[in-house]
Amino acid sequence: MTDDYKLETLAVRSGIERSQFGEHSEALYLTSSFVFKSAAQAAARFGNQEPGNIYSRFTNPTVTVFEQRLAALEGAECCVATASGMAAITACAMGLMKAGEHIVCSAGVFGATVQFFGTIMKRFGVDTTFVSGTDITRWQAAVQKNTRLLFVETPSNPLTEVYDIAALAVVAKKAGALLAVDNCFCSPALQQPLALGADIVIHSATKYLDGQGRVLGGAVLGKKNVIHEGVFGFLRTAGPTLSPFNAWVILKGLETLGIRMAAQSTAALELAQWLEQQPGIARVYYPGLSSHPQHELAMRQQKSGGGIVSFDVKGGKEAAWRIVDNTRLISITANLGDTKTTITHPASTTHGRISPEARAAAGLGDGLLRVAVGLENIEDLKTDLARGMSQTKG
Ligand SMILES: *Cc1c(COP(=O)(O)O)cnc(C)c1O
Repeated sequence: MTDDYKLETLAVRSGIERSQFGEHSEALYLTSSFVFKSAAQAAARFGNQEPGNIYSRFTNPTVTVFEQRLAALEGAECCVATASGMAAITACAMGLMKAGEHIVCSAGVFGATVQFFGTIMKRFGVDTTFVSGTDITRWQAAVQKNTRLLFVETPSNPLTEVYDIAALAVVAKKAGALLAVDNCFCSPALQQPLALGADIVIHSATKYLDGQGRVLGGAVLGKKNVIHEGVFGFLRTAGPTLSPFNAWVILKGLETLGIRMAAQSTAALELAQWLEQQPGIARVYYPGLSSHPQHELAMRQQKSGGGIVSFDVKGGKEAAWRIVDNTRLISITANLGDTKTTITHPASTTHGRISPEARAAAGLGDGLLRVAVGLENIEDLKTDLARGMSQTKG
C-alpha cells in the first residue's frame, strides 16, 4: 500500500492479497506445505530463484499478511513473525549475535527477558550488563568494545520507566551496536521506535496486538538487511515460527488496535489520577501523570500514557494481596493488553524467579501491583479496587 495512508487505515487495509475467490476478509491458510507445479519449480523455490511459499516454518500467506500489516504500522522495512514475544527476543539475540559479544539491557525489563539474557544467552558465551535507571550516562558506561546489542523496554514493565529512545540510538550508533526496543506497552498506535532511531522493534503480539487475550505471538521488525538475514535466517532453521491460525487472530486484532489503545489510555489515566488520591496508596507509576519523573519525555515520545498503571500499596505484600483478593471483576492473571482488566502482584508472579537483590535493584517492591486497564467502565474498576483498599490501614 502507498505510504500516504494513516495508521488507522493501514491497520485495517494493509497486507491483503486476495485469492481467486475474492474474499473480503483475510483468508486463513492452514497448510504446512505448498505444492509445486514441477520438479523444476520446486528446485527454483528452494534455490531462491523464484519467490513463493515452500513450507510454513519459512513463510505462510496468512503470516505474511500479519507481517506486512505490522510492518506498515511500525514504519518498518521488514517484519518477521514469531511464535511468542519470547521467541521474538530469542530470534533477535540468537539470529544477530555470536559468542564473545555483549548485550546492554535495562534492568527493568520483562522477567523472562532478564532470565533469557542473564542465564541462557550467557551459556552460549554472550554476557549481559543490566543497567538500572534511565540515566543515559549509565548506558554509555556499560558499553564495551564487544557490545552488539542495546535492549530496552519503554515504558518498562511493571514500573513504567520511560527511556529516551533517540538518545539511546545515539549511544548505540557510536558503539557500533544495534538498538532494540520492546514496544509491547505502547504498540505502534502510541509509539514508533524506528522513527526515533531504533534499529529493531520487538513485540509480544500476545498483548495489545491481539488485544483480546486469545493467542500467543511475537514479531521482530527493522531494516531488511538486519532482519531478513539474521532473524529470518535463524527462524526458518530453528523454527519458533508463528502459526497461521494465530497470525490470523492477531491480524484481525490489529484492525482495532488504535481505538483500543486510545480508550485504554484514557481509562488508565483516569484510574491513575484516582489512585493518587487514595490514602492507602504510596505511589502511582503511570507515564501520563504529571508526577511521573519522565512525564515530559513520555509525552514527547508517546501519543499517550498507555494502558498500564502500577502502584505501591502501603503495608507491603499483605496489603497488596488484600486488594487483589477483594476484586470480583478484575482478573487475577499475569497477562496484559486484554479488553478485560487484569491485576498482577509482580514480586510473587512475573518477577518471582528473579533474585530478591535483582528485584530490589529494579525497584520492584513487595507492595507493588500492576493493573492493565481493559475496556470495562472505569467506575466499575474503581469500585473493584476500592473494596480491598477500604480495609487498608493508611
Ligand atoms: C509478555 C511480554 C514479553 C513476552 O511475550 P510472550 O508472548 O509472553 O512470550 C516480552 N516483553 C514484554 C514487555 C512483555 O510484556
